[in-house]
Amino acid sequence: MKVFKEEKDNVFKILSEAISEGIVIVNDNQEIVTSNDAADRMFGYKPEELLGQNLDILIPSEYRKNHHHQVEGFLEKSDPRQMGHGRDLYGQRKDGSVFPVEAGLNPFEVYGTKYVMALVTDISVRKNQELEIINLNSSLEQKIEERTKELNSTIKTLREEVSKRKKAEHKIKESLRKERELNELKTKFLSLVSHEFKTPLSGILTSATLAGKYTETKQQDKREKHLKTIQSKVKYLNNILNDFLSIERLESGKANYKFDTIPLSKVINEVIYNSNMLLKDGQKINYPNNIDDITINFDEKILELSLTNLINNAIKYSPEYTLIDVVVSPKKDAVEIKIIDQGMGIPQKEQKFIFNRYFRAENALLDQGTGIGLNIVKSHLENLGGTVTFESEEGKGSTFIISFPTKK
Ligand code: ADP
Repeated sequence: MKVFKEEKDNVFKILSEAISEGIVIVNDNQEIVTSNDAADRMFGYKPEELLGQNLDILIPSEYRKNHHHQVEGFLEKSDPRQMGHGRDLYGQRKDGSVFPVEAGLNPFEVYGTKYVMALVTDISVRKNQELEIINLNSSLEQKIEERTKELNSTIKTLREEVSKRKKAEHKIKESLRKERELNELKTKFLSLVSHEFKTPLSGILTSATLAGKYTETKQQDKREKHLKTIQSKVKYLNNILNDFLSIERLESGKANYKFDTIPLSKVINEVIYNSNMLLKDGQKINYPNNIDDITINFDEKILELSLTNLINNAIKYSPEYTLIDVVVSPKKDAVEIKIIDQGMGIPQKEQKFIFNRYFRAENALLDQGTGIGLNIVKSHLENLGGTVTFESEEGKGSTFIISFPTKK
């Protein structure tokens, strides 16, 4: 401990050497009048080197100006206090290096002169620890952020996985449903075949047996009558088989459409020619007279299947001696064909079910049928951008209207 010679104080000497904080005492000119070993070591000075120096020497230059004001104000008020208050305080070593400090100031007076004793602690270690904690906290926050991101992306992946699985599940369910429907269809087909084929087949058998009995030449007209019955029943069975094949193709997604440029009259002629074999006594189909110039680009088989179904229904569900009109109206890029009958019609309350597969109206149950014709006509036409609709009044007749694009 070094003391400015004139102001030596023994009690102070003993005390100041005993404590670990640095002690620096300045007079009211802010000259250092004494410093203990701890202060000398802390600021990097040799013993007594600080004596007589201005306090500025211990303060980094950027804080000096501010510090002067504070010391002056402090000497006037003269009450002990902690320096810094919410701000970081720094000391400067002899080698110019700066370090964080904490300082407590204690003013006192000896022989009429004012002094301030500063108790200075080097808080580098504490500051470093604080900094380390701040760094640790920020790296922790960063880690949390990273983990949150990772978690979010895992959640996203999981969500995608769940949605993929749901889709796959839906697909499986859908194909199961289709398979079940196909199985149902097969069962239904078997039972329909048994019922629907039995009557025409036994009719064919009877007609064939009877035709065989007419052996004389003059009985040719009788033979022809039976042959016509056989032809019509075979046609009927063939139509049912075509419908079933159509359903199978629609169900398994194997419906292949083929577009051809064809005269409309070719299809209509063929359909009406074949349907004529099914006409009941006195029934007549009125052939459209304006179709010679109409060429279409459409699937010939589908148009044939649709018209055959509609015209055969008109025949089947109309009594003897009625007319069936086939009316063709060319539209812009489309053709509309109406099949108008004077038959039993469809009961109002059942009209909304008429395109459902296997649906048959109550008034039609005495006639043979499967309830699949209209359903497949609608599916095929809609697949090809066409439509099928109807108007019907029970007891008066029905009009079925198909419309399809004439260009691909
Ligand atoms: P199917 O004629 O083999 O029963 P469709 O699918 O062709 O099957 O017709 C379904 C039902 O629609 C028929 O059972 C009948 O009740 C009704 N239907 C269809 N066309 C006509 C029509 N022209 N007149 C009266 N009813 C009809």
